Parts: sequence; structure tokens; C-alpha cells
Amino acid sequence: MSGLVIPGGESTAFLKLLSRADMFEAIKRFCAVKPVFGTCAGCILLAKNVLPARQESLAVLDIDVQRNAYGRQTDSRVAVGEYVGSEIPLEMVLIRAPMIVRTGPDVEILARYLGAPTLVRQRNILAATFHPELSTDRRIHRFFYTMACQGIQRSAS
Ligand code: GLN
Repeated sequence: MSGLVIPGGESTAFLKLLSRADMFEAIKRFCAVKPVFGTCAGCILLAKNVLPARQESLAVLDIDVQRNAYGRQTDSRVAVGEYVGSEIPLEMVLIRAPMIVRTGPDVEILARYLGAPTLVRQRNILAATFHPELSTDRRIHRFFYTMACQGIQRSAS
């Protein structure tokens, strides 16, 4: 079993560090073959397009994200949204969070808050605009753990 979690933080700082450590291409290659979970800034890094100002990204997940879409640091909040397919709502800690404003046809929406997707999956790539590690609900952890255990499912053909 193996996988990678790209945590929250500051996506611009991650980009600088990835370039300085010469790890950008290696992580991009990892994203092609292994389960990867990006949360918040990690989600921004995985996205195909970053708004409102274009920013480099790994571009392995067919979504557009708008950085800091809920406002400033003081507008950060503990939200409660929908976990698709579950009657039990999901707590989502949004810290200067991005908003997913477009999802491509192969992207599955797994959770929503105020109508916007907050947890999405495209094959081996999972991304959340919130911080699951700051809530006691373990459903998202379990979801990615299962993905990591399964690896990439290849079709029989
Ligand atoms: N605002 C940060 C960014 O644009 C993300 C914040 C977070 O990861 N909590 O990269």
C-alpha cells in the first residue's frame, strides 16, 4: 500500500519548495500511478486551473479552483455540508479555503457545501477544499485509506 497526502498550507510556498527541491516532476509522475489526496492548498496544487490569478499546478485533476474564495483568514469557518450518499452531514473546516468552480466530466463530486463541491475524486486523485484532519469524523480518512489499499484499479482489457 502506498499513497501521498498533500496537506493544507500555502500553495505558493509549496510551489517554491517543490521547485527548490526539484520534486515537482517526481510528484507529478507519482500522481499518474498512485493514490494521492490533496487537502486545501494540496487541492489547489492538484487542480488543472487555478483562479483568479493563474498559478502553476500539477494539473492532474480536471477542476478549476478559486483560491481564498470564502474571504480572508477571519472568514475561515467550521461548516456543515452534504456528504453525497450519506444522511449524516459532514463537518468541513474551511481555512482560507479555495472553491471548486468547475469539475470535468470524469470528476465525481463526493461532498458539497452551499452548492459547491468540497470533496472530489478523479480515479486515483482525491481532493478536499477543507481540512479533514481537524474534525473528529473519520469517514474521509477511511475513504482515502481504502483508495490507498486498493491502489489504481486497472480495467481487465
Ligand atoms: N489559501 C491557501 C492557498 O491559497 C490555502 C489555505 C489552506 O490550505 N488552508 O494556497
